[in-house]
Amino acid sequence: MFINKLNQLYKPERVLYYLEAGPEEIEAFYKGEIPETFRKLAGTFGTYDYPGVFYVDSLEKEVIGIEYRPEDDRIDYPTELKSILLDGAFYYSIEIENDNRIDLPFIRELFAKLARDDDAHRQYSDLAISDAPRVIGVFTHISKFRILYECRLEADRASDVIRDDAEKLDRELLYRMAFHDPITGHYNWNHLVPFLEMPMDYGIRDYAFAHFDIKEFRIINEVYGHIAANKVLSNVVRAMNEADFVYSSARCHNDNFAMMLRDMPEQEMIAKLEEFFEGLSHLEEDPNYKIYFRCGVVPMQRAVFSANRVADAGKLAQKLGTTPNRTDIVMYTDKMNDDILWSNYIKAYLDTAVQNDEFLVYLQPKFDIKEEKIKGAEALIRWNYKKRVMLPPYRFIPFFEKDGSIGKIDDIVLDKVCHALADWKREGRPLYPVSVNLSRSRLYDPGLIDHLVGIIDSYGVDHGLIDFELTESASYDNKEQMLLVLNRLREKGFRISMDDFGTGYSSLSLLTEMPLDTLKIDKSFVDKVGTGQDLEKDLVVMRYIISLAKELGFVCLAEGAEQSSQVEQLRSLGCDVIQGYYYSRPIPMEEYVEKYL
Ligand code: C2E
Ligand code: MG
Ligand code: MG
Repeated sequence: MFINKLNQLYKPERVLYYLEAGPEEIEAFYKGEIPETFRKLAGTFGTYDYPGVFYVDSLEKEVIGIEYRPEDDRIDYPTELKSILLDGAFYYSIEIENDNRIDLPFIRELFAKLARDDDAHRQYSDLAISDAPRVIGVFTHISKFRILYECRLEADRASDVIRDDAEKLDRELLYRMAFHDPITGHYNWNHLVPFLEMPMDYGIRDYAFAHFDIKEFRIINEVYGHIAANKVLSNVVRAMNEADFVYSSARCHNDNFAMMLRDMPEQEMIAKLEEFFEGLSHLEEDPNYKIYFRCGVVPMQRAVFSANRVADAGKLAQKLGTTPNRTDIVMYTDKMNDDILWSNYIKAYLDTAVQNDEFLVYLQPKFDIKEEKIKGAEALIRWNYKKRVMLPPYRFIPFFEKDGSIGKIDDIVLDKVCHALADWKREGRPLYPVSVNLSRSRLYDPGLIDHLVGIIDSYGVDHGLIDFELTESASYDNKEQMLLVLNRLREKGFRISMDDFGTGYSSLSLLTEMPLDTLKIDKSFVDKVGTGQDLEKDLVVMRYIISLAKELGFVCLAEGAEQSSQVEQLRSLGCDVIQGYYYSRPIPMEEYVEKYL
């Protein structure tokens, strides 16, 4: 049985999970029996209300649904709303009392009637400005059922229409609910939409858009309680109302807010917002607690698209604000959007690419600079994307790192490297160690070591021929875990290199704890030596890094030397090994075999 998911448009904070069920299960449900799978689901998902029969896929499919409210739902929503305006669309619902159990044929008949143009539609037809009302679902309860249908509105006219409608139908509540937030009494998102879509109507010529939320708002809620948390929300509203650079603002949902701001140069904007958030950073209940925000800003040139797209752009930038214990203000760039599209695309395409064998391993030799002899190589992945264009790692590695699929890439590389080493051994060629990059996100995989050993042993490759490179920054997340994994790998006879040394900010004492064979000094340091105008300071730094590495017993490797003058300088400073374009770029495996083995 498949579990499907449907975002309930009329209650966006909740998700309807449904199981496709056969006629017997549906009949049984009406008799009051809830299927076993269903109960189990309830256990897995947490709170649930409204088990019901739901119709999806244009009313074709009858399913049993369970409404799931995410566990971190922080603030209670008024669930009893008869209709809510969302993104310029109404979702009206009609509830029909039913004192008996629901009669299936009756619903079907009623549905068919609604799906055609019937009375209920006509009742609201004046609201359906841009689209005909469309029934989106029927939800049955034991005692009543609800029919939902949607009416789209032109956003800038939404306010008028709703006001008229509210008067006509005598539903002031509806109007208030449609444009106000029940907790702070401030405007909600729907109220802000017309401003964004038709700024000129409000005398606004240039504007920027900001979307922000409160970091760790959950903690405020849980530790200091709902009242304190609601007070924080109200303070935000007051500050937005008082700020002279805010044209209009809204509380969107939970701890999310949006503002339409006066446009100004980027630095000024950041300074203004920092001051704004600083003013909101105190928690009355606890002077030691500091409130931080993350805010995405869409500058005017980018804010000219539709309200929802502006909001998406703002949220995208907002999400990138992840610095702990600090307020982040992130300016939206088009690249962020391109990245998301590209990232989603390649993630979906990854498995096909693997099947098509589009990933290749290039090898870049490492040279001993005293003896001018090859010492080994680093395996670097290349993606022969759709067999049309060769993509360098920065075009895909960071995206796969984020969602965990990087493991697949690293495995392909390790597999190809082991395959090659086994071939070379059989062919009687000299065997030099090959290093592979190990992504730091994988350090938390409890099966990692067995998995790696499994691949290597399946080719019978000597463990001493495999060198795992880990970037220095891997130690930030969890030093203990990193040390544990590295020590176990070392015990199994593998070599370990610290990659990109000098780009992170790890303490030097970490070097004494790490089980290392090689320290790879980052190219950014190497770039500063042998230029002909070397600064004494840079040379001092390089000399000390090299002697530090050597005194701790590591091989010292310099990454990215391109000029002979750099090689000379590094040699005189005592560096052992160089991996850089001066000796060779990364090359296809066949070429490596031809040239070096
Ligand atoms: P890295 O591990 O530090 O690899 C060294 C990078 O420096 C390689 O870039 C290499 O081509 C480049 N390089 C070496 N010598 C020179 C030089 O003299 N001049 C210049 N300008 N560049 C030089 P590449 O292949 O683009 O890889 C970039 C990064 O992508 C790697 O940095 C590594 O972090 C990551 N990467 C590559 N392959 C894999 C992989 O299979 N798995 C994982 N997780 N990451 C990989
Ligand atoms: Mg590397
Ligand atoms: Mg490196």
